[in-house]
Amino acid sequence: MNIMTNPAALDVDRIRRDFPILTQTVRGKKLVFLDTAASAQKPRAVIDAMAVAMQTQYANVHRGLHWMSERTTEAYESTRDAVAELMNANDRSEVVFVRNSTEAINLLAHSYGRGVLKPGQAVLISGMEHHSNIVPWQLLRDAHGIELRVAPITDAGELDMTAFESLLEDGKVGLVAITHMSNVLGSVTPAERIVSIAHAYGAKVMFDGSQAIVHRKVDVCALGCDFYCWTGHKLYGPTGIGVLWGKRDLLERMPPFLGGGDMISSVTYEQSTWAAVPHKFEAGTPAILEGIGLKAAIGYVRAIGYDVMEAHEASLVEHALSRLAGMDGIRVLGNAQQRGGVISFIVDKAHAHDVATLLDRQGIAVRAGHHCAEPLMHRFNLDSTARASFGIYTTHAEVDALVDGLVRVREFFQ
Ligand SMILES: *Cc1c(COP(=O)(O)O)cnc(C)c1O
Repeated sequence: MNIMTNPAALDVDRIRRDFPILTQTVRGKKLVFLDTAASAQKPRAVIDAMAVAMQTQYANVHRGLHWMSERTTEAYESTRDAVAELMNANDRSEVVFVRNSTEAINLLAHSYGRGVLKPGQAVLISGMEHHSNIVPWQLLRDAHGIELRVAPITDAGELDMTAFESLLEDGKVGLVAITHMSNVLGSVTPAERIVSIAHAYGAKVMFDGSQAIVHRKVDVCALGCDFYCWTGHKLYGPTGIGVLWGKRDLLERMPPFLGGGDMISSVTYEQSTWAAVPHKFEAGTPAILEGIGLKAAIGYVRAIGYDVMEAHEASLVEHALSRLAGMDGIRVLGNAQQRGGVISFIVDKAHAHDVATLLDRQGIAVRAGHHCAEPLMHRFNLDSTARASFGIYTTHAEVDALVDGLVRVREFFQ
């Protein structure tokens, strides 16, 4: 192996020892967890960071003048630096903490949508969005007279770039809001091209990076996008904390989303003034412990390295696709050139829910359903698929277990 071009292989056995939950058996079988795209398991570093904070260093943040509050504020705020570094943001004040991607997109739709976009302008999404990047824009459309446009995808599950560009040509699109990686097809969208085309027509760009940030290095400066959001629990971190990154001048132009404590500069009954960004968007007591846990998750991921994680997942996907391709009666949805560790498939004559239930009896956890992407299901004339998704702790043997499990599912439905 040429070490110049091949990053060091991931030591999966060592990684697995960091995830206590993976040693469990379920239904008397070894747990084969292939549902990481819905939410990732947590390494001990994250679990410990949160437990230690609760036991030794906990108070409300940003308010107390006492020692404990100052230490907790430092710990919580240092996550903002870790996020800025992770995404290569220019400035830590461009990192807004939210609960999850869903809240990030709602914040954007509400604040940028109502405060900056004008009625008659359009928001352009794609045909492979998660519901959380569809519904907030529908709410905006109905409340504010914004048109919602949808760029189609090809049978391969890639964004149709010709159609995408033609939807921008009349100059009405103020914002492109698009996934950086599909949670159903695994397709990675051509982010740099999307940005350069959108900017040429005067539109800003937001990426939903909920999946992408788990699988590849995200550099917002290199991408040139205007907003980027993701959710902590998919990056091996806790639930309840997510990120909206935005260019500072845009965040400054946006009105607040939620009002309350922490987001103000001063309050009288007549009028209140807002804190500077990012605090303007962070009303109320934040997810302090989850923020501290997220920093541990970022540290964990960075210590492994994105190049190593990406190579590991690429090898799992290649292995899975080639084994599934050799099976009768299994069809994989989409075959994008660029893809991450997510594979959706259907089994002849079997409903996806039955596939998942039969796999579960063998200790194999996959997701089944519409994956919060009903319009994408309809695009393929389906109402559901089964989905296997991989993380840093996934082994090739687990992919083989899935294939063996599917052989049994097929026998059941013969
Ligand atoms: C999971 C996911 C979301 C929503 O994340 P939440 O944590 O539920 O808010 C949005 N978009 C994509 C692509 C996802 O995979």
